[in-house]
Amino acid sequence: MRELEKFFIRTYGCQMNELDTEIMVGQLEKRGLTRTEEENEADLLIFNTCSIRDLAERKVMGKLGQLGRAKTKRSIIGVTGCMAMAKKDSLFRKLPHIDFILGTNNLTDLNQVLDEVLISGKQTHKTDDVFEENLDYLIAKRDDPVKAFVSIIRGCDKYCTYCVVPYTRGQEVSRPPDSIEEECRILVQKGYKEITLLGQNVNSYGKDKPEWNCLFHDLLYRLDKIEGLKRIRFMTSHPVDITLELMYAIRDLPSLCEFVHFPIQAGSERILKKMHRLYTKEQYLEKVTLLRQIVPNVSLGTDIIVGFPTETEEEFEETYEVFKQIRYSVAFIFSYSARKGTPAFRWKDDIPEEVKQERLHRLLSLHNEICAEQRQDMLGQEIEVLVEKRNKEDLRLKGRSRCWKNVVFHGDDTCIGTLQKVKIHSYSNQTLIGDLATPPPKLSLL
Ligand code: SF4
Repeated sequence: MRELEKFFIRTYGCQMNELDTEIMVGQLEKRGLTRTEEENEADLLIFNTCSIRDLAERKVMGKLGQLGRAKTKRSIIGVTGCMAMAKKDSLFRKLPHIDFILGTNNLTDLNQVLDEVLISGKQTHKTDDVFEENLDYLIAKRDDPVKAFVSIIRGCDKYCTYCVVPYTRGQEVSRPPDSIEEECRILVQKGYKEITLLGQNVNSYGKDKPEWNCLFHDLLYRLDKIEGLKRIRFMTSHPVDITLELMYAIRDLPSLCEFVHFPIQAGSERILKKMHRLYTKEQYLEKVTLLRQIVPNVSLGTDIIVGFPTETEEEFEETYEVFKQIRYSVAFIFSYSARKGTPAFRWKDDIPEEVKQERLHRLLSLHNEICAEQRQDMLGQEIEVLVEKRNKEDLRLKGRSRCWKNVVFHGDDTCIGTLQKVKIHSYSNQTLIGDLATPPPKLSLL
């Protein structure tokens, strides 16, 4: 059997895909392969793909098509991730030079699939619909030495009408709490200070396994007890599953950051219903009010889709007004693109592209204004920063506040991986700029 030596892997899409890449990298390195950033050097090329938007998919298809035309060296080419699940073996018809397709529920099978390709020389695919909880998470090869992603639940049962995730990642499968806690403890022993709990909908954690008696907030209370774990974040949530218990956990647990991704998607009642978001605008706003009463310093993030089929100008205005009212500090705003296989794909994508773009830009401008005002309000404040690395451009240290703001300041390398108090004196486009509130003592020459 031919031996592989070097692999190249490119990740598209969300943090879940980044973590899946880290797991695949760990598996390949254990097999004896070395990672390279040069495609031309690699005898194995993997594209860990995303299907969430049309643009993301077109980019990958373009790249894969190019490889088929330009390939001089016979590398093994694999497609993993959501596109592998959405298109399955039909990808072989469009891209006959691909060697294997591996679905999001089959990461464990990577080396076995590679062996099959190498031995038989035939195209191979493995794309199970259900996730089997036997994945070795500890094998993940992480590049970041300070922050780590930890998967707690896979899949999604919400079936929003525009979203491919329930079809590409399957039904919700929670990971056993003991396994999560063990991984977090090991990461802390290795020096990690911040853990982001990942899932398509983390706050429905444990609902599929009532016998565990461990819902999302219960898990947070367990993890907060891990000594040395400075910060816990989570990504992403569904508003319906944001409970009172979770709000109290954010208020009471020292390690849990006061930032909640609370994706509204649209501000119009009719569009929310058409999206099958399972909450009304009123219910959403009530939850936000309650959360802000319980955790007054909480920052909120959101996802918004503009130009959903049939969205009128008035309905977009409602989204705009909700955004203005809530003043999100983080927002991922997209114009609607129809995804094959979803219920919304059957509806006419009737909002002209220029109208979508105009709505998108109006909302982005509002978001920029709000962020600038929020940065202005932070001038003179001392905030806690987890220092991550040194900025390549200006060599300042770089980190994030508890509420997910980028912060830069001057300091020495011993600060990296520690929590520091930084006093904010100015800001640039996306970043707060400050000085260490307690600068390190100057060395005496005597
Ligand atoms: S909750 Fe999120 S992941 Fe689940 S279907 Fe809706 S948009 Fe997709």
